[in-house]
Amino acid sequence: MKVYIDGKYLKKKEAKVSVFDHGFLYGDGVFEGIRAYKGRVFKLKEHIDRLYESAQAILLDIHLSREELIKLVISVLRINNLKDAYIRVVVSRGVGDLGLDPRKCPKSSLIIIADKIQLYPEEMYKKGLEIITVSTRRNIADALSPRIKSLNYLNNILAKIETTRAGVLEGIMLNSQGYVAEATGDNIFLVKNNILLTPSVGCGILKGITRDAVIKIAEDIGIKVEETLLTTYDVYNAEECFLTGTAAEVIPVVKVDGRIIGCGTPGKITLKLLAAFHNLTKCEGIKIFE
Ligand code: PMP
Repeated sequence: MKVYIDGKYLKKKEAKVSVFDHGFLYGDGVFEGIRAYKGRVFKLKEHIDRLYESAQAILLDIHLSREELIKLVISVLRINNLKDAYIRVVVSRGVGDLGLDPRKCPKSSLIIIADKIQLYPEEMYKKGLEIITVSTRRNIADALSPRIKSLNYLNNILAKIETTRAGVLEGIMLNSQGYVAEATGDNIFLVKNNILLTPSVGCGILKGITRDAVIKIAEDIGIKVEETLLTTYDVYNAEECFLTGTAAEVIPVVKVDGRIIGCGTPGKITLKLLAAFHNLTKCEGIKIFE
């Protein structure tokens, strides 16, 4: 495996960053997780745009144009001869001193890793996940906006620790006001009265690219979508529930906090959207190999 670091393609063992990198010292940086399916990079432009917006929000200069970065992502896939992959693009503040001041970091660092992806176990897509509501609240937007996909994921990691200690794979994070925000690494959707419901961006969520793709698919096939305020009451009374994310794709949820959702099996609309999403991944995206 070859990892791209600041202009070099390095063997996995040699792919290392400085202990003075502020990404390492402070989580000062941004990242993206991107998928390639059958030789096409899915929603690459959208991911790159979000990366630049995250960087803009923390005043981080990427030192490359979006087009140059797109070419680099493709080059890493080509060098590793990967048609199906999970790509991690990381931009850290770069090497500085032990203080917080980003001005001490003259140049940001760019890392691109392309590897195979570990999804949820295959049976979970058929049977559905059991999840819980965690007690860790999602960061408030005026402290650290959840829209920034930053290298500081402690908020989500604390929530993830709760889920693993409870013996489940995901958890719902509420925002500081008690409204449903998202899962630790995925967005959440409900179905009620044939309407697709999902927390609005203002609830303090990462604006997921899979979320946007699923909303578009739903609208295209005539399913009404509402981006709204949701509580655990809405979750417990939903007919269907599912999560979306680059790694997770679309995964049904059948139990929340020990309560069975709908019929306790993946719902009809969920399965329809899951199939449509898979179809989209097969035909959408920039080709890696000519
Ligand atoms: N929310 C959080 C907190 C995430 O980290 C992610 C990505 N893993 C998502 C939602 C889903 O976003 P996307 O569909 O763009 O991967």
